[in-house]
Amino acid sequence: MSTSYVTPSSTPDAGAPGGDPVVPPSAAGSPGFGPASRLTCRECGSSYALGAAYACEECFGPLEVGYDFVDVTRERIEAGPPSIWRYSCLLPVAAYAGDEPNLNPGFTRLVRADNLARALGMTGTLWVKDDSGNPTHSFKDRVVAVAQSAARRLGLSTIACASTGNLANAVAAAAARAGQHSVVVIPSDLEAGKVLSTAAYGGILLAVDGNYDDVNRLCSELVGDPLTEDWGFVNVNLRPYYAEGSKTVGYEIAEQLGWRLPQQVVAPIASGSLLTKVDKAFREFISLGLIEDTAYKVFGAQATGCSPVAQAFRAGQDVVRPVRPDTIAKSLAIGNPADGPYALDVVRRTGGSIEDVTDAEVVEGIRLLAETEGIFAETAGGVTVATLRKLIASGALDPAAETVILNTGDGLKTLDAISNVVGVTATIPPDVDRVTEILAARAASAASAGS
Ligand SMILES: *Cc1c(COP(=O)(O)O)cnc(C)c1O
Repeated sequence: MSTSYVTPSSTPDAGAPGGDPVVPPSAAGSPGFGPASRLTCRECGSSYALGAAYACEECFGPLEVGYDFVDVTRERIEAGPPSIWRYSCLLPVAAYAGDEPNLNPGFTRLVRADNLARALGMTGTLWVKDDSGNPTHSFKDRVVAVAQSAARRLGLSTIACASTGNLANAVAAAAARAGQHSVVVIPSDLEAGKVLSTAAYGGILLAVDGNYDDVNRLCSELVGDPLTEDWGFVNVNLRPYYAEGSKTVGYEIAEQLGWRLPQQVVAPIASGSLLTKVDKAFREFISLGLIEDTAYKVFGAQATGCSPVAQAFRAGQDVVRPVRPDTIAKSLAIGNPADGPYALDVVRRTGGSIEDVTDAEVVEGIRLLAETEGIFAETAGGVTVATLRKLIASGALDPAAETVILNTGDGLKTLDAISNVVGVTATIPPDVDRVTEILAARAASAASAGS
């Protein structure tokens, strides 16, 4: 494929798989879409012009961005900014030129977690990709930044979303920064930390009496309504672009490891998009010759109270049967995950596994990561750490192999999860003697515990 959008006059690729119809370009041909050239159906391969579309007109399969990559080199990436925009040559929006205000997320730290590895009996190197360092403290800033750029290209003036919490923060903040309108729709039972921080950014925030799947359904109906003509729902009609933002997690892991892949990755699953896009990122780097083609396994993590993908994995099924979520890991509480079947494919193809953990284990996971590495994760991070432990215990994950786990959010947003299990050591008057007493009591109990 020789077509690229370096030249605005270029035409979209006519060689779609199976000779399926190529819709004439509308937004396609705009240099603003970078190397993206089309939307392609993940099921039947039909191609469409770039636009605010997410379902195939032929088979209703989900659409994905197709590219004609040009000039992708390590040098070009390394010369880019310390944000997701260093990977513009691999994203469906043009290089960020500095004239479009956004939150510049990404390039978060990859933390070597020796203490956690030791606590879990791992001899291989363990890393935490810590996305709590993003502007609104979750990995969702990545997907929103890409969707927001696509919304601009498509002339959509309001950005909207159906959210389990972190997306709400990310959309409201990104809109505020860019001077756009936002409409954020959430289930009414979300954590106060997520609701209030979203509200602080302004914009319209609608709490729906129902769960995330009800919220998602409402937003899908709104997409067809004339009322929302100039709205881009980042995870509905802009979903193909949004999803590509998650690839940057995978790119960063490979680049930060010194342009190579880890042997194992553990990712939390809500809709399943993040997990599938980390794999896509790895495969793109390999096929573009940026890294060596070394074997890796992708593992998925869910909370038992919302574990439809883990259940399908265990049952050996390709279809994911929807569940009604009931877990403290609300950011992962999607009972009918759109990318569940694709997550199953990735995990099975790479030889990984999917496990789920109870809410009590989630809390233990949060504490373990905080106490060993000084990283305070939200419930989703607790799910991932607890799942790592479970995968080691079951033998599915090799404790001697190099492993990266994803911490996707910040514990300050989910304080309720730990408010009953941690607290002050003692409440005292401002008196040195009381401090001495408490330290002595601590030393004594530590000694008796150790004897
Ligand atoms: C949204 C989210 C995920 C997973 O998202 P996918 O829908 O599977 O892409 C993971 N962790 C946190 C904290 C999230 O907010």
